[in-house]
Amino acid sequence: MYNDRLTQMGKLRYGVSYWADRQPRRRPTYPRHRGQLDVDVAVVGGGLAGCATAYALSTAGLRVGLFEAARIGDGAVGASTALVMQEPDVDFQETLDAHGLRAARAIWKLTRRAAQDFASTMRRLKIPCQLDAQDSIYFAEDPEAAKRLRGEWQARRKAGLEARWLKSDALWREARVRAECAIRVAGNAQVDPVRACAGLAAAAVKRGASVYERSSVERIRPSRRSVELRTAGGGVTADQVVVATGHPGALFRPLGRHFRTLETYAVATPTLGARIRAELGRRQAMLWDAAQPYRYLRWTRDDRILFGGGDQTPPHPRSREKALVQRTGQLMYELSVLYPSISGIQPEYAWAGHVAAAADGLPYIGPHRNYPRHSFALGFGGSGLAQGFLASRILARHCLGEPAKGDELFGFTR
Ligand SMILES: Cc1cc2nc3c(=O)[nH]c(=O)nc-3n(C[C@H](O)[C@H](O)[C@H](O)COP(=O)(O)OP(=O)(O)OC[C@H]3O[C@@H](n4cnc5c(N)ncnc54)[C@H](O)[C@@H]3O)c2cc1C
Repeated sequence: MYNDRLTQMGKLRYGVSYWADRQPRRRPTYPRHRGQLDVDVAVVGGGLAGCATAYALSTAGLRVGLFEAARIGDGAVGASTALVMQEPDVDFQETLDAHGLRAARAIWKLTRRAAQDFASTMRRLKIPCQLDAQDSIYFAEDPEAAKRLRGEWQARRKAGLEARWLKSDALWREARVRAECAIRVAGNAQVDPVRACAGLAAAAVKRGASVYERSSVERIRPSRRSVELRTAGGGVTADQVVVATGHPGALFRPLGRHFRTLETYAVATPTLGARIRAELGRRQAMLWDAAQPYRYLRWTRDDRILFGGGDQTPPHPRSREKALVQRTGQLMYELSVLYPSISGIQPEYAWAGHVAAAADGLPYIGPHRNYPRHSFALGFGGSGLAQGFLASRILARHCLGEPAKGDELFGFTR
C-alpha cells in the first residue's frame, strides 16, 4: 500500500485501504527494539505469517522475539481484502499439472485445513476480527471460461475435493450474477486482516513473546551455535530465525529469483442502501470471476462491496499514482458491469499493494540449504491469509524439530 502521496476526490481516498480507517484509536503499540536480546526464535516480519508463527512458537513454550519494520499488520496483509480462502492462488488443475495428483491433493487438503484452522483459532482466542464464515463462488461468464471451469470442477471431484456445481439460474438466485456456471465451495471465511494480526501478536505476547515495531532487521548472520540479527537499536541472538517478510527483499536477494512481484488493486464502495442491496442476491458468498485477469468481490459488515483484481507488474514509482487511478477506475467500471445497480456510485477507498508469487502459485515455507538456522515463509501471492496460517504450523513444527508429512510440499526443494 502506498501512503506517499494521498489524493482525495470527494469522499474517495486513494492509497488508503479500507482497514486503515477502521482500526481502534487505541490500537496497541509495541516498542522499538533496543539493546541485546536472547531468544530461541527470532521472527522477522509482523504480517499474518509472522504474527501467527510468533503465536504458534510461544504457545509451544519457545522464547520468541518478533520484529516488524513498520506496525503490526501494516504490510501487504493490511492492504488485503482478507478473504480467507482454502483454495491456493491457482486452479487445482495447475497444481495437478505442476506436482502430480498425490501432491496436488495433499496441498489442497492442507490449505483447506489451514483456512478452517485459521477461523477456529480466531474464535478460540476471541480475536475481534469480524470473522464471518462464507462460501466462495467461482464463476465463468463466457462459454470458453465455462469449459475450463467444468474441467476444473471435474479435476477437483476426481481428486475427492469438495466442490458443488452451480448452474446459471442457481448462481443468479444466489448472487444475482449473470454467468454460465460456477463452482461453490463451503468452509471459507473473511476477516478484518489488521485486527487478525494484532490479535495474534497480542496472544503471542500473553504467552511470553516480545514484539517490536519500527524495528527493521538490517542484517542476519548465522554462526555455528546461533544466529545474530541486527536492528538499528541493537542485537539479537537466537537459535533460529524465521523470515516472514512477504518477499525475500534485500536481506535474501539470491532468493528473489523464485518470485515475481505483482501490484494488485482494490476498491471499497460506500455503504450500499437497502434498495441496492435487495437487488444483489443473498450476499452470503465471496465471488471470483474465472476470467483472466481475475476479479473478485466480498461484502463487509457495514454493507460495502470490496472489489479487487487488476494485477500487473509494479509500475515505475513515478507512474504508480496514475496506475492506481486508472486500474481502480477500471475495477469500478467492471463492478458496474457485474452489478448495474452500482453504476454511478463512486468508491470511498481505492488502494493497491505488492505481493510476491512463485511460478507454481504456492508459497515457499521451510528451510533453505544455503541458510543454516533459517526458515522462510515467503511468496503468498493473493492468498496469504489461510496460507500464512499454514506457514505458522509448518514453521513451528520445523523449529521444534518435528516436521510432519506434507510439510515438504511447500519447501524450496519441491
Ligand atoms: C490489494 C490486495 C488484496 C489482497 N487480498 C487478499 C485476500 O483477499 N486474501 C488473501 O489471503 N490474501 C490477499 N492478499 C495477499 C495478502 O495480503 C498477502 O499474501 C499476505 O499479506 C502476505 O502476508 P505476509 O505476512 O507474508 O506479508 P506482509 O503482510 O507483507 O508482512 C510482512 C511484514 O514484514 C515486514 N518486514 C519486511 N522486511 C522487514 C525487515 N527487514 N525487518 C522487519 N520487518 C520487515 C513488513 O513491514 C511487513 O509488515 C491481498 C493483497 C493485496 C495487496
